[in-house]
Amino acid sequence: MKFKNLSNNIHGKSFRDVLFEGVSADGTLYVPEYFPVVSKSFIENLSILSLEDIAFEVMQPFLTELPEESLKHIINRTFNFTIPLTKLQKNIFLLELFHGPTLAFKDVGARFMAEMLSYFLAEEGGDIIIAVATSGDTGSAVAHGFYNTPHVEAYILYPSNKVSPLQEKQMTTLGKNIHAIEVKGSFDDCQHLVKQTLVDNDLKQMAAITTANSINLARLLPQIVYYFWAVAQIRRQQGSHVLPSMVVPSGNFGNITAAAYAKKMGAPIKNLLAATNSNDMIPRYLSTGKIDIQPAKVTLSNAMDVGNPNNFPRLQALYDYDYSVLRQNIQSLSINDEQTFEEIKLSYTVNGKLLDPHTAVGVVAAKMLADTSSPIIIAATAHPAKFPEVIAQALPQKFEIPEALFKLLNKEKKSILMDKDFSKWKQFLVSELR
Ligand SMILES: *Cc1c(COP(=O)(O)O)cnc(C)c1O
Repeated sequence: MKFKNLSNNIHGKSFRDVLFEGVSADGTLYVPEYFPVVSKSFIENLSILSLEDIAFEVMQPFLTELPEESLKHIINRTFNFTIPLTKLQKNIFLLELFHGPTLAFKDVGARFMAEMLSYFLAEEGGDIIIAVATSGDTGSAVAHGFYNTPHVEAYILYPSNKVSPLQEKQMTTLGKNIHAIEVKGSFDDCQHLVKQTLVDNDLKQMAAITTANSINLARLLPQIVYYFWAVAQIRRQQGSHVLPSMVVPSGNFGNITAAAYAKKMGAPIKNLLAATNSNDMIPRYLSTGKIDIQPAKVTLSNAMDVGNPNNFPRLQALYDYDYSVLRQNIQSLSINDEQTFEEIKLSYTVNGKLLDPHTAVGVVAAKMLADTSSPIIIAATAHPAKFPEVIAQALPQKFEIPEALFKLLNKEKKSILMDKDFSKWKQFLVSELR
């Protein structure tokens, strides 16, 4: 398999180069040259296959440049926590993607990217610097994904006083090759510093530098597996005729793009629905045909506070930039904070399930889509314990913080305080690289 960019002026790229570059020189995203369709017997046998077997079958066609044994090893290290399907109520299910080390679905993509980088670095020699800007969830997943990865030093830039206490501890208590940079500024300032770092010629001469956000295709590929695994589990429970719909709480639209890729590759999925919070550029586009970008609004589901979703071009390309084809394949609904809040209360009191605010957005949307003919599966993207402030507001009863999180909150924070000034940051990085 080779890869191309979305402006179609670069073809035949290896996965290795896509991984190391992140985006193409003209700023457009990389995508596979085509989508391989899985075999009929694979679909027939889905319900008896393991997560690792499904992951190998789905990902191998994209990664033909790796020996099969190496890929299997990487898959085993990437998918090393459970992804269970649990029932919320009749015909509505949750695919629990939050059992990884930082309790959000981004753990899989970050871990896979780290494994792939260290595979190629071991082959080629050399070291790499990862610079990533975060408003919370990405940084913690990247920190844990890259922790102790040989030949990789990760610099995580986060805005001082603007991430939750838990998220901050997840980034600042690891040490070793993970460097938490606490920037006196906003998320945008952090992102600006990272962008300048990637194009600075002095720095580029000193070290290989890349970034680890969701525009990197390496973060998306392992997420395609989720959706085959969801079908496998529902068929195990209900029989091999079942054709579920999927609802994905969406911000940058990476995870729903992975779901759309799965369907394109032959995953037996009925409908796909992207649920957004009040940041509703795509739901509005799908109903009006007009692209109208608004600044990001702050909501209860902060990991989805994205004004201009960066994976949208991949979805448009998948459906040949045809508005009506896009509409036939993807539905999208915007859910506000009040609805989200009510759903957290309702799911707990009626179904005994605690939802995090992102998953709750998906559940509200799923209930709007629900019919009695087939099940709906919601991608449960974060553990409720990650958002104790919202949960405590919605539910008067106290809920138990998992032991691991409790320990984390008591660990000592280690960060490097930094002005948002590029020359100071560069000076620091140069001294680190010497
Ligand atoms: C990142 C994130 C999302 C949004 O995923 P996208 O791929 O950006 O659409 C949803 N929920 C949680 C908890 C997240 O961390």
